[in-house]
Amino acid sequence: MASKPGILTDWPWKPLGSFKYVILAPWMAHGTYQFPFLLERMLHNQIWISLSRHRTAKGNNRILDRGIEFEQVDRESNWDDQILLTAILLYMTHWTIPQASHLPFWKTDGVIITVLIHALVVEYIYYWLHRALHHHFLYSRYHSHHHSSIVTEPISSIVHPFVEHIAYAMLFAIPMYTTVLTRTASIASIVAYTTYIDFMNNMGHCNFELIPSRLFTIFPPLKYVMYTPSFHSLHHTQFRTNYCLFMPIYDYIYGTMDESTNATYETSLQKVEDSPDVVHLTHMTTVESIYHLRLGSASLASRHYSPKRYLRIMWPLALASVVWTWTYGHSFVLERNAFKKLKLQSWVIPRYNVHCQNRSKMDHLNANPAKIRPKCQRGIFPANRAQNDAVLHADMAK
Ligand SMILES: [Zn+2]
Ligand SMILES: [Zn+2]
Repeated sequence: MASKPGILTDWPWKPLGSFKYVILAPWMAHGTYQFPFLLERMLHNQIWISLSRHRTAKGNNRILDRGIEFEQVDRESNWDDQILLTAILLYMTHWTIPQASHLPFWKTDGVIITVLIHALVVEYIYYWLHRALHHHFLYSRYHSHHHSSIVTEPISSIVHPFVEHIAYAMLFAIPMYTTVLTRTASIASIVAYTTYIDFMNNMGHCNFELIPSRLFTIFPPLKYVMYTPSFHSLHHTQFRTNYCLFMPIYDYIYGTMDESTNATYETSLQKVEDSPDVVHLTHMTTVESIYHLRLGSASLASRHYSPKRYLRIMWPLALASVVWTWTYGHSFVLERNAFKKLKLQSWVIPRYNVHCQNRSKMDHLNANPAKIRPKCQRGIFPANRAQNDAVLHADMAK
């Protein structure tokens, strides 16, 4: 939360709590064709959340080696507010600007205009807006809310006070409205631009470095037009450097590049997987228990498992997890915990209760201890068959 909340720091629908989705009622009645677009944005964010939790638990290429506090998980649980705001803005746009409806699939001039306006206008205004947000008056009332997260998760990128979201929406609307009003907009330019914003935002806050150095060697000017996760991570630890949106060129021009940017990038790329002292092996119970893994929704993972009707509508996801279980078949790192100097990892064996009741399947698993270890782990778990079996039996017996 902002240290000294100001006007419009809170979202207007905050008092509605879990009933906030009722604000979508008029949109649902008139604009259901926008639903796939909003669903794609939610899914895109969720993929980044799960990937980041898995990778930061494994440890390779991790940028900041610190855990996340409970307060941060609670503070960032309302990340879907941004999607609700998008739905409202889309509805209002189609209501007020008739030419925004029935766009063609592709128009080359609109794509070029979007790229140029983003690089020359949006990035420039954002840079100075961001610097203004770090002035103590605006920082204490608004921007400190985003900076409460030092160790970021992908969703930290869209956790801002309401009025900041309005400012960002106006900023991103500049290329989109320009192309709509000049009749050069297309479905491709709008969807690709929104996906680019979501991708870069999530990537910048994922807390593991994933941009290979080869890319910068092949094309050196890339460092001016694309930031990396370690670049923006430094903004969250140093506060007064690396202000850019996605293109570091303005930090180069105005001298606000962090001096340790390159060193942090190299160190993160070289970071190897964690070697845990203790491993807790666990497995799934029913097909729907996949939703309670911490890699997915933090709010579901924090609750005891019980069958819920609303989870059944997500059956394609459950089905995909079963198919993945059969094809991948290896355990994977779920989470890590540190107890002073003792490092613990939890690994999930992709098997269900039904497998544990089948003696032959259990024997097969115990006869292939390699299947129990995550595929990427190397030499961290003693290849002691008896030890593996003991841990596995003990856990499955629960
Ligand atoms: Zn900032
Ligand atoms: Zn940030």
